Amino acid sequence: MVDPAGQGDRMTGAVPTQLRVPYVIAHAAEIAPQPLTFVRRPLGGLRLAYNNERRGDRVKGVLRVRVLNNQRGAPQWRKLNTLRQWRCMEKLLCQVCGQAATDPTTGRIPWITTDSAFRELPEDPTGGLTSAPPTCWACIPEALATCPQLHISQAVGTVARAEPAAVLADMFTPGPSRRALHTGEHNVEISLSEDTLLTHALATQLIVQIHDFQPAPHPMG
Ligand SMILES: [Zn+2]
Repeated sequence: MVDPAGQGDRMTGAVPTQLRVPYVIAHAAEIAPQPLTFVRRPLGGLRLAYNNERRGDRVKGVLRVRVLNNQRGAPQWRKLNTLRQWRCMEKLLCQVCGQAATDPTTGRIPWITTDSAFRELPEDPTGGLTSAPPTCWACIPEALATCPQLHISQAVGTVARAEPAAVLADMFTPGPSRRALHTGEHNVEISLSEDTLLTHALATQLIVQIHDFQPAPHPMG
């Protein structure tokens, strides 16, 4: 990577920035309050909600965890920013640089699948479910070189298309005065068709179904 301030950094003894922080990684100053409660649904029963629900809290009926989107503060390397992860999935943006991931020549979307973030579906031999957004061709070598998880198990390929299929969510249950109590369950996978479960879920990541995965030659040789 080009480091325009590299010389200056060496002279002052500061560590030059070698690694980009991937677009999807959460930062320390992006944590937001979660004023959660349970409210009555028009057709009966309770559902999880924010006290002061606003635009963007709920996407197609799914309540999302509130986070800021400022990329300020220390990177939280094991945590994804929900707004940016969701945006990458819906708009097929690269998880490293945040730009469009689709290859303009072929129209196909480069994707790294790992054992930890990819699950095959019995009914779809060339597709599956993944919580990891795509990675553009330009960023794939960097992603493979910097992410320790990718050394263990990964496949680089392209997919024809991807659509929202499920979420990963924290689960809540109503307490006294309809207070929202966390059940202790994190990263529960819930299909977007599971209407009843979704009423008790606070989504943290969007899972997509990818179609027609074709392995590509390993870009690192
Ligand atoms: Zn990229």
